[in-house]
Amino acid sequence: MSATILVVEDEPSIQELIAASLQHAGHRVLCADSAEQAAHRVNEALPDVVLLDWMLPGMSGIQYARRLRSEERTRDLPIIMLTARSEEHDKIAGLEAGADDYLSKPFSPRELLARIKAVLRRRAPQMTEDNVEVEGLRLDPLTHRVSGDGRNLDLGPTEFRLLHFFMTHPERVHSRALLLDQVWGDHVFVEERTVDVHIRRLRAALEASGHHRLIQTVRGSGYRFSALGE
Ligand code: CA
Repeated sequence: MSATILVVEDEPSIQELIAASLQHAGHRVLCADSAEQAAHRVNEALPDVVLLDWMLPGMSGIQYARRLRSEERTRDLPIIMLTARSEEHDKIAGLEAGADDYLSKPFSPRELLARIKAVLRRRAPQMTEDNVEVEGLRLDPLTHRVSGDGRNLDLGPTEFRLLHFFMTHPERVHSRALLLDQVWGDHVFVEERTVDVHIRRLRAALEASGHHRLIQTVRGSGYRFSALGE
């Protein structure tokens, strides 16, 4: 599993060390020296994970984590706090601010990689290669196959990614802007109408097994994948 990871760390030697071990493991790395700089990076393109130092010049890591959680576009962005502090109440404060995990410095590259993998598995299951199944609809990321009640369904690449995201994030409403970020990957130049086009194609592809009913239009808000019915 290869991810784009934003490293927010003001200490150059630590930033370099982390970046080197992540790159070595096959990840793509973006770096920022402050929360402000990180915000610019995130604006340009949404990373898959943020490694966020607690003590930063200007806005602190905790404050930035809270901000990321408060905005729709970044509410699900996996965050791992990095800190030299290891007291229990600091850890709790970090998790309360919305961090998914917490690593005390110094940590080994191996531990860091393991935590990243665990956080991605939990927060961004569409990045993993685990099979997903909902109500007889089955998606296999490894072979790119989708079947409905055992019948093969033919999906285009975008519809496949869209369905994978839906199936791993069911029962909540996703706006078109969020779907663009998550499925198309931050293409500023793609219009929101494009989402509707691909939803239509996805529904048509799922119709053969009746699973198109799982994709609901939520008027004025976006779309929801739901096994519970409307
Ligand atoms: Ca620092």
